[in-house]
Amino acid sequence: MESQSLDKETIKKLEIERFANAVSTSKRSLKEKVALTCRILFDHGHDSGLSGQITARQENGNYITQRLGLGFDEIHESNLLEVNQDLVVIEGYGIPNPANRFHSWIYHCRPDVQCIVHTHPYYTSALAMIGEPLVVAHMDSCILYDQVGFVPQWPGVPVGNSEGELIARELEGKKALLLANHGLVVAGKTVEEACVLALQFERSARLQVLAMSAGRIMQLDPVLAEEARNWTSQPSRITAQFEYYVRRHLKRVQS
Ligand SMILES: [Zn+2]
Repeated sequence: MESQSLDKETIKKLEIERFANAVSTSKRSLKEKVALTCRILFDHGHDSGLSGQITARQENGNYITQRLGLGFDEIHESNLLEVNQDLVVIEGYGIPNPANRFHSWIYHCRPDVQCIVHTHPYYTSALAMIGEPLVVAHMDSCILYDQVGFVPQWPGVPVGNSEGELIARELEGKKALLLANHGLVVAGKTVEEACVLALQFERSARLQVLAMSAGRIMQLDPVLAEEARNWTSQPSRITAQFEYYVRRHLKRVQS
């Protein structure tokens, strides 16, 4: 075996290059990815009636978001809205969720963020109710390692500017937040990343609730956890995961 003598760093570098070349870049439009993300999140327990929002920033600075009054499972490209930073509808029928205001604050503070997901899934909400920060202690969850902040006090319904300032401030240097008595916020560089982060957040919360009920959680080695985070955060891996979730969703609705 020729590769038997290679060290781990060399193998990682080679595999990253190989995977990046094997995964084609997405041909999907921004609207298509946003609509698919809404329905994928619904499939994975992120529905909470009409609560929750997703936004994705366009090149012109406006956002794509869902129409208030529709559930995540009802979102398609045809009913998405384009809104500006003040939530004025530029294109589409209906109005956005007023809580999208805090998205504007995040986008203002974080030019690297292009997509924001906010939902109230069950296990995340359970942690939020007991005021327990998310603990990343499983290899599968490492994409979120050292990336999740915790807002320990509920500021109320996040429709005001002060709530937006608070959330944007707490998200500084992070990819996600657990909001006490509320839910999750994830901020991605792409729609695909935000989708994968939101799914992994809820899965991590579910694992944490199960693990806490059974025993003591063992912390990860920080060096190895960061290595795993960097490994699982590669854009090609995220694209591949997103496309897998898309196929699963489409198979479910077509069967
Ligand atoms: Zn909410």
